[in-house]
Amino acid sequence: MDFNKITGQREVIENLKRSLSEDRVSHAYIFSGPQGIGKKTIARIFAGLLLCDDPHDGATCGRCRACLLIENGTNPDLISVNADGSSIGVDQIRAIQGDAVLRPMYSRRKVYIVEDAVKMTVQAQNCLLKTFEEPPSYVVVILLTTNYESLLETVRSRALHMQLRKYTRDQVMQALRARIGGSRHVLELIAGYADGNIGQALKLAESSEFSMLRDRLFDLLPGVSSGRTKDIFELTAFLEDNRDNIDVLLDIMLVYYRDLLAAKECGESMLINSDKKDIILNNARNCRSSRIIECIEAVGAVRGALRQHANYQLAVDWLLIKLQGQNKKG
Ligand SMILES: [Zn+2]
Repeated sequence: MDFNKITGQREVIENLKRSLSEDRVSHAYIFSGPQGIGKKTIARIFAGLLLCDDPHDGATCGRCRACLLIENGTNPDLISVNADGSSIGVDQIRAIQGDAVLRPMYSRRKVYIVEDAVKMTVQAQNCLLKTFEEPPSYVVVILLTTNYESLLETVRSRALHMQLRKYTRDQVMQALRARIGGSRHVLELIAGYADGNIGQALKLAESSEFSMLRDRLFDLLPGVSSGRTKDIFELTAFLEDNRDNIDVLLDIMLVYYRDLLAAKECGESMLINSDKKDIILNNARNCRSSRIIECIEAVGAVRGALRQHANYQLAVDWLLIKLQGQNKKG
């Protein structure tokens, strides 16, 4: 595990490396940033460095007992806490506290990574405060969250905040090129979709259906905007048949509308789907910007609703109604 192999996030990484080299490690950290930005990867490397017997310049040795056990996922000094169902409750935090009184087995420290800390109940957070206030000397707790503000102020004020930022499009392309390769055009397109998020970019790149899904949506969306009944039915069926890929589909829709807006406001040089520029320019000409923005908001609202486990069919039907009749000049 090696910080030097991570693209970007230099500020956070330099901060963590410094705290290790100066032996000023905090008992509590909050890593915040969007889904897929690399919170877990960076937290795990940091944990590896805290536990390794012989780390060098941000890289673990890979040979000591602690390293080998982490590699196998069986190091008892590195504990991941995940949501038990939809939330992380007070019982799970009490379990951490029960475990934290036991000294580490192989290292100087013991690290707890709470994934999806955004799911901690208020009681769980209050309970965790006790550990933040009187931690055993060897304990380090790392909270990972997509929403820093959702944590209690009392929790935030006792932890060091490491804010992971979106990557530039070039950094996303660099990471994609290193891991999967591919032509420049494809990498550019995926990087455009991923909106500064390497995890998201890899997910799209690995989705073999991505280009098929995108082609089909670009066939249907213009007709839906004009209220063409046949296209509306076909899109309804298409979304039903591909419900396992709904995240990708909503991303494609979002970028489609984003491109319509970009074409209207800034011209064709700003398009992400530059290979589909004819479709986009054609449709942009017939749409009012305010209607395009309503479509973008509708897609975003459906994504939010589905994440909250809304009924799929109802959400999709509502979306289809919102996307229709968009084509009015202006
Ligand atoms: Zn090691």
